[in-house]
Amino acid sequence: MALKIGIVRDPRYMDHKPGLVHPESPNRLRSLYRMLDKDFNDSVIYIEPESATLEQLELVHTPAYIKQIMSTAGRDFTTLAPDTPVSANTYIAAWLAVGGCIKALEALLAGQLRACFCMVRPPGHHALADRAGGFCIFNNLGVTAKYAVEKYGYKRILIIDWDIHHGNALQDLFYRDNRVLYLSSHYMGWYPHTGDWEETGEGEGLGYNVNLPVPKELEDNDIIHIYREILGRVVRRWKPELIFVAAGFDAHEKDPLGRTRLTEKAYLWLTQMVLQLSDSVRGAPILMALEGGYDLWALASSVREVLGVLTFQGRRDRIPLVSSRRGSEVVARAMSLHEKYGIWTA
Ligand SMILES: [Zn+2]
Repeated sequence: MALKIGIVRDPRYMDHKPGLVHPESPNRLRSLYRMLDKDFNDSVIYIEPESATLEQLELVHTPAYIKQIMSTAGRDFTTLAPDTPVSANTYIAAWLAVGGCIKALEALLAGQLRACFCMVRPPGHHALADRAGGFCIFNNLGVTAKYAVEKYGYKRILIIDWDIHHGNALQDLFYRDNRVLYLSSHYMGWYPHTGDWEETGEGEGLGYNVNLPVPKELEDNDIIHIYREILGRVVRRWKPELIFVAAGFDAHEKDPLGRTRLTEKAYLWLTQMVLQLSDSVRGAPILMALEGGYDLWALASSVREVLGVLTFQGRRDRIPLVSSRRGSEVVARAMSLHEKYGIWTA
């Protein structure tokens, strides 16, 4: 039986216009939506987003910050952070980006879908409770995870962040929380330069923050090895009830910001891994939300691979058994550092 896959899309996400030369441009979604229409129109279920509510936004963001975002309404150009300019209708897109992820969550929990990919912008994983940054306004997945915890009482939500930049704000939101385990692979030489090995959480959340700084020379076999070893253990031992993916595609070799050496095939194998691991924990729903990815061709090709795996109906290929010196070093370091917490290494 074909898997039911949801896609959140809406033309209003393109009304956030950070400027003609800004890499986080509306064309990113244009190229994704075009790819969808061409290759997946009959095999996905479209979900129309609704705006998040104020109550939902306030699960993460301060009232003063939400007010600040609302004050940009109707103004052609406001700079929230040096890298994060916004336009007259950005606030609508930003509320809708959070709301789209929440709508996807509701559809997943209603059992209507196996997985959902939220093709939203602005992205979210750098948006702090009271501050925009890194092209992000509201923390789309952060709000959705808090909502799942508060409204539905979920106790084990895994957030995988494979964007090449560290999701500093996702880390920050759940740093003292053992109900959300944040696992990120990223290159620390880029913005926001956080996400070091030793940032493993605090208090109740100690050990529930897993940072995997990767080298800039990262290749497909390295990332496959790292995720097979680390993500495999995390899912099998910790048994998440929900799996979120901060799905950035800027680790692609053609990406102008990421500049590591992954190809689109890496995302095929990573997605297959997430799907198989989710099958092993009673089919934990998978919610992916778009983060980075700035080369239009690389972005569309990578997401095509992701959707190809999710919508594929036949027998799946075995994930290649690769060897990787760079990957082995990352795995060994993470294992030795996290051993003392006994959450997923035991
Ligand atoms: Zn990124």
